[in-house]
Amino acid sequence: MSKIRDEVLTANAAYAASFGERGKLAMPPARRFAILTCMDARLQPAKFAGLAEGDAHVIRNAGGRASDDAIRSLVISYKLLGTREWFVIHHTNCGMETFTDQVMRDLLRSSLKTASLGGDGWKDVGPGPGSPEGEFVDWLTIRDLEQSVVDDVRRIRSHPLVPQEIPIYGYIYDVTSGRLNEVAAATEIGRAR
Ligand SMILES: [Zn+2]
Repeated sequence: MSKIRDEVLTANAAYAASFGERGKLAMPPARRFAILTCMDARLQPAKFAGLAEGDAHVIRNAGGRASDDAIRSLVISYKLLGTREWFVIHHTNCGMETFTDQVMRDLLRSSLKTASLGGDGWKDVGPGPGSPEGEFVDWLTIRDLEQSVVDDVRRIRSHPLVPQEIPIYGYIYDVTSGRLNEVAAATEIGRAR
């Protein structure tokens, strides 16, 4: 078995051994809120936001962007599972700031292997073939961090399937301090109506 797979299963056995009362948790989040954030490995929402099992929904993707699929999850979070407040949390030093759609499309067109980030940007180091399919994906990259939080809160706020009474708060998580810093303009756009 792969080393990682072995480590994961060993950790899981220890976790399950002390699972206790958590097996009786209800499906709806007990604290009735949801967080949309980035998949970055340095972010641990359960820790930085003080979550226990059963507390809240955490929806993650590259960048923590308000993609159609993120909105799908948020709508289910409210409509079927009763969350009442939402956070959009992007973060400093996000990988999504390091490339553009065109860069990603060019990289994928030449090779599917892992690329390498140097002083002058991303370069393919692996062999081809690549694929032109990257042209058909909106990679939702980030040019300006505060603006991306504002844009995503605005998109969720103005979405026809999102009711006006849910407040949506905009934050940037600082990977150097662990601190959440508010993007006031985003929270203002996201206030409940
Ligand atoms: Zn990120």
